[in-house]
Amino acid sequence: MTEQHADVIVIGSGIGGLTVASLMAQLAHKRVLVLERHFKLGGFTHSFSRPGNRSWDVGLHYVGEVENGSMARDIFDLITQQQVQWQKMDSPFEKFVYPDMTLEVPDEEEAYQAALMEMFPHEVDAIRTFFADVRTARKWLQVYTLIQLMPKRVGPLLRVVFRGKEKLALSLTGTYLKRRCRDPRLRAILASQWGNYGLPPSKSAFLIHAAIVGHYLNGGYYPVGGASTIANSIASVIEKYGGRCLVNHTVTDILLKDGKAIGVKALAGSGTRAEEVVYYAPVIVSAAGAYTTLCKLLPPCVAGLLAKEVERLSQDSFSAVTVYLALKDSPKTVGLTAANHWLFSSMDHDDMYRRAEQILDGRPAYCFLSFPSLRNPQATSHTAEIIAPLPYHVVAQWRERPWKRRGEDYEALKRRVAETLLSFVEAYVPGFKSLVDAWEVSTPLTIETFTGHRFGAMYGLPATPERYCLSGLRVQTPVPNVYLTGADVISPGIVGAMMGGVTTAAHLMGINGFYRIMTAAKHLK
Ligand SMILES: Cc1cc2nc3c(=O)[nH]c(=O)nc-3n(C[C@H](O)[C@H](O)[C@H](O)COP(=O)(O)OP(=O)(O)OC[C@H]3O[C@@H](n4cnc5c(N)ncnc54)[C@H](O)[C@@H]3O)c2cc1C
Repeated sequence: MTEQHADVIVIGSGIGGLTVASLMAQLAHKRVLVLERHFKLGGFTHSFSRPGNRSWDVGLHYVGEVENGSMARDIFDLITQQQVQWQKMDSPFEKFVYPDMTLEVPDEEEAYQAALMEMFPHEVDAIRTFFADVRTARKWLQVYTLIQLMPKRVGPLLRVVFRGKEKLALSLTGTYLKRRCRDPRLRAILASQWGNYGLPPSKSAFLIHAAIVGHYLNGGYYPVGGASTIANSIASVIEKYGGRCLVNHTVTDILLKDGKAIGVKALAGSGTRAEEVVYYAPVIVSAAGAYTTLCKLLPPCVAGLLAKEVERLSQDSFSAVTVYLALKDSPKTVGLTAANHWLFSSMDHDDMYRRAEQILDGRPAYCFLSFPSLRNPQATSHTAEIIAPLPYHVVAQWRERPWKRRGEDYEALKRRVAETLLSFVEAYVPGFKSLVDAWEVSTPLTIETFTGHRFGAMYGLPATPERYCLSGLRVQTPVPNVYLTGADVISPGIVGAMMGGVTTAAHLMGINGFYRIMTAAKHLK
């Protein structure tokens, strides 16, 4: 067993963990050690490729709010030291396709509102109010972020001061939409993007829906070269500042002494050749998710009631299958554009969420279709991805079997899912199937295997109103020296998890931490 020391240990190399690591290395001059269980860095920002220059991203299709001068862009530029370029998607950048209606979403709020008003002239007031409420709910998310930075006792006070906004932010999306819109078709259209956080309107807090709607009001962007350019750039910055990022390092325990964390135990390597290693640091930041951190890495009972609540919440996590397609030619040859396509089988999003399993009977509820090669100016061959919801329990029976050796029955399920989804898309885009050269399928088990996220959770803890009322769910965990970061701190999404990273780093840097980060980001150019 080997032992080593660092100033800050970061568990997990998703965008949340890498953000903290980059900021602590650059601005706080800490020796940072990032430990990642996967054989590649990046978490959901990693990409994989196959012969023929085909590549796909596992958890990034489009990112909003990275236009020049935006806060998110400034922070991306800081943590990557301006090594990532962003390609704006053409407008319309999304298409919501229902059996009886289609909306193409322009990359500008006024035009989006105008398109909605043209479609629903009898709901003009509701549409205006919706966009105003989106802004209000997003402001509450900023308050929630502030609460993370304040001493624990200040949180309840801030919540009282902003209780008007909180009431709106923590109402259920479905309840909100029913109250505001008379026309069920408008309700359906306005709820279309729920797949970006994985909860249907009857379960999600309006604030997360508002966060996503607001996030994409000025369109979508894609990192030139693919998602892995983000992780690779940040890793190079961490190393430049004396830090290290180690793959194939699965943290198994957070080590405590006198009730405080002092280091971690990890398995380096895999299989029979895995070796136990111990690393010490006075600060342990976990980007591995709240459930893994509180319920798996810390000894039982240490995180107390919070661990129990997180355990319960995590049971409702969302997961999906992804079909990665290698195409013979450009999707444009069959009339497609680079826009994301949300193909819905009905207007009832809650019903579609419940019917996710029907994909196994050849009746998918909905799918999300995206074309990385049409967004990436560096792509030299064409690819596409189809994502559809799939509950974890459908694949749970293969859990104990090793990756790539899960057996013919599992492979048959993947084939069935791929064929079903291809036929579903073909019905909307005739000729699409004939473009397909090869495909691969990932399931919730794939996600669980690689990231360790319970039930193959794609978006961390479900963004229910209840989650945002858990006062103990904070950057600073109940265990001294252990901090959370990433999607479970504020919200899922690339920018959401990155802001989780900023919040954690700001907390660690002390009273003016946030100011220091923002000043460094602003003065980069
Ligand atoms: C299919 C899919 C599509 C998506 N599309 C988009 C999109 O288009 N736009 C968008 O903004 N967001 C999208 N998201 C969401 C976004 O990718 C995530 O919310 C975000 O990347 C989460 O970042 P994170 O750092 O919190 O977690 P992760 O990226 O999950 O990182 C956690 C890391 O911790 C590691 N880890 C876990 N346990 C351990 C351990 N014990 N020891 C060491 N390492 C450990 C994991 O391997 C992983 O690398 C998508 C997600 C998925 C799954």
